[in-house]
Amino acid sequence: MNYTTREIAEITDSQLIGDGNICVKNIAFDSRTIYSSADTAFLALNTSKNSGEKYIYSAIEKGIKIIISRHQLHDTPDITWIIVRDAIQFLKQLAKYHLTRFNLQTIGITGSNGKTIVKEWLYQSLFGEFATVKSPKSFNSQIGLPLSLLEINEKHELGIFEVGISKPGEMKLQEEVFSPNIGILTHIGSAHASNFSSEEELIEDKILLFRNSTTIIFNGDNDLVFNRINVEFSSKRLISYGFKSRNDLHLNTDLKNKKSEISFKYFGEEIILPIYQRDEATLSNALCIIAVLKELGLNNEKIREKISSLRPVEMRLESVTGLRNNVLINDSFNLDLDSLKIAFQFIKEYKKKRQSLVLTDFVEGKDSESLYLRVAQLTNAQHFSKVFLVGEEIVQYESLFEAETFTFNSTSELIDSHQLDQIENELILLKGARKFEIEKVKNYLELQKHDTILEVNLNAVLHNINVHKSLLKPETKMMAMVKANSYGLGGYEMAEFLQHHHIDYLGVAFADEGADLRKKGITVPIMVMNPEQHSYDTIIDYDLEPEIYSFRVLELFYHQLRQKGIQKKYPIHIKLETGMHRLGFKEEDLDELIQKLNKMEVKVESVFSHLSSSDVPEEKEYTFEQIEIFCKSAELLSKGLNYNPLRHILNTSGIVNYPECQFDMVRIGIGMVGISANPKIKKQLKNAVSFKTVISQISAVKKGDSIGYSRKYRAENDTCIATIPVGYADGIPRLIGNELGKVGINKTLFPIVGNVCMDMMMINIGTHPAREGDEVIIFNSNPTLEEFSGYCGTIPYEVLTSISSRVKRIYIKD
Ligand SMILES: *Cc1c(COP(=O)(O)O)cnc(C)c1O
Repeated sequence: MNYTTREIAEITDSQLIGDGNICVKNIAFDSRTIYSSADTAFLALNTSKNSGEKYIYSAIEKGIKIIISRHQLHDTPDITWIIVRDAIQFLKQLAKYHLTRFNLQTIGITGSNGKTIVKEWLYQSLFGEFATVKSPKSFNSQIGLPLSLLEINEKHELGIFEVGISKPGEMKLQEEVFSPNIGILTHIGSAHASNFSSEEELIEDKILLFRNSTTIIFNGDNDLVFNRINVEFSSKRLISYGFKSRNDLHLNTDLKNKKSEISFKYFGEEIILPIYQRDEATLSNALCIIAVLKELGLNNEKIREKISSLRPVEMRLESVTGLRNNVLINDSFNLDLDSLKIAFQFIKEYKKKRQSLVLTDFVEGKDSESLYLRVAQLTNAQHFSKVFLVGEEIVQYESLFEAETFTFNSTSELIDSHQLDQIENELILLKGARKFEIEKVKNYLELQKHDTILEVNLNAVLHNINVHKSLLKPETKMMAMVKANSYGLGGYEMAEFLQHHHIDYLGVAFADEGADLRKKGITVPIMVMNPEQHSYDTIIDYDLEPEIYSFRVLELFYHQLRQKGIQKKYPIHIKLETGMHRLGFKEEDLDELIQKLNKMEVKVESVFSHLSSSDVPEEKEYTFEQIEIFCKSAELLSKGLNYNPLRHILNTSGIVNYPECQFDMVRIGIGMVGISANPKIKKQLKNAVSFKTVISQISAVKKGDSIGYSRKYRAENDTCIATIPVGYADGIPRLIGNELGKVGINKTLFPIVGNVCMDMMMINIGTHPAREGDEVIIFNSNPTLEEFSGYCGTIPYEVLTSISSRVKRIYIKD
């Protein structure tokens, strides 16, 4: 889009305060992911959870000059305001107007599953045929759809947009903004059904999108859908597809037959196409693509070419540890402007690091001059220290890039140049079109190519935090416990991610852990639970906040503050002993404590205690006693100090079982990983860690053969043994050998046999058709972390913190 602030105000009937002549090209609504502040307006969106207005100042801090909001805020000189009645209504009005200005063919995709894949595949198939625009990622909501529509410009001939709904009545509103020429209904499943009283209601709502469409292409395997569309829209062009033979386009091949080609029937005509993946979802999505390509007039030869080059839709950005203390971000999403923007947003989180970029030719084809101009603009706004351009096309535009730029005709030329070897302590973003095989660069730069990894899904961590937040009042603060290297998941990576998502406090066990986070750029307040005497300097030097649990610690720490000449009221946290009998002040200490504190230049930031049995239902009474003592003592302390420190006592299971005692803050730990003893909560959580490896070797053994050290296991039958490269030095307890523990291969559990070795163990896979190199799950969903902990006779906390540092941690995030 490209409008002046005045035009925007006029189109949307809003009030303009300030400069009417500023050009707006983007609208951002998440202040954390603003990737370039020039030409961008910030829209303050109020959702049920968050008031967008509180992020206006942070958007301004990032250099935003135009704010769209319901209210003008004070003290914002040089800002131009567009004052709107309702932010979503505003977006829709603008998008609707924008759409009417262009004359392009539109495709609207709705359905419960498969929308994003169908959209991406259509885009892959069609961008070479028409100048095509599509929704980025799965932008399909009341907000995502209008934002997607605003991406249309005069060059586009075809627009492909996803339309999602989450509750009844929404489709009518979506259709008012976007009424596609060709409507697509993919699979109807139960994904969104929870807000709908019945499947019929869901279908009725979805098909409202097609009110003004000329053609409807739909999955006709569902009888309700099939009948409903045929009755309601009998005057339109209808094309059904699916597995059932009643559909206009259907499968004509028995899938048990393993031929590499599949035969389809399209209105009686036979089409034969190569399709390698034959799971139901892939086939159903492929059917949809074929129907659309046919409808758009592509001949069978073209369709064959398109279908055979469809690539899996991979939505993940992978972050791995590189050599020379670099972080590598490998983006395997297809290379286009949208995915480039998304990758740039993603790496913003690593703001403390210098950043470099490896970027290849885009294979979009059309109008490369303006494409690369835009690529260079986006890249320049990112201030990379070095840019490596790969490909015969992009290197011609070298002069557009402002960073120190290097050019190569191919990926191997880049690797052979050894230019990448010069980079240290940086983030390197690898962004390449498939054919450049940019994974080769990743392999080249990656630290120790171990096949054993601990994969941490940060999206799941965030989801789990939000599940716990939903049990709390919105104003209750949250401290995330990142002690012991964040329960083994990686202290810095977790802290960085949590900081990005506005966590209020972090908690560590020792000063060194906190100092390490500070050195790497973590600025959130950090509480240190075990302030050892020798570490007081570190605590003070790195702005860490000690837990004070005894008069001895109070006096010694205060002495050190005086010694160092610290003037400010230093933040400390008072730990109360209420029943754990570990550390803390007792009730009878309080009078003396208050007296002492009042004479000291310190600020008690918080007063807290810890529950011994928040996960034990039988100990409810004891827990309430702890809470009562805490409550009384905290009140006494507040009175004595004449101000109110934050109060907190709940850990993860406390949040779940005693949310009424949340006070001002809670401390989440294991819940972030997806563990809960409460089955109702457990169901809502997502598993955030996977411990995986691969089979090194498979060998056949005969009945009676012995396996491993000391011949502790003898095969009961002829069988196959898979050896995997993980052992007790990686944190697998030796005691789970000899059939006590199991691992997952191809979704089936197999026993560990023989003694666990230092770096390896052996698995009895019987006659299972596994192959060398196949993935082996130590834990994720089968077995789960809880099940694995059961084999070890311990709890998930111990399992996670025992995984040794030689196991590479990999972080996954959308
Ligand atoms: C570790 C820790 C927590 C977090 O406990 P979880 O059970 O993992 O939620 C909370 N408070 C204190 C004092 C802790 O040491």
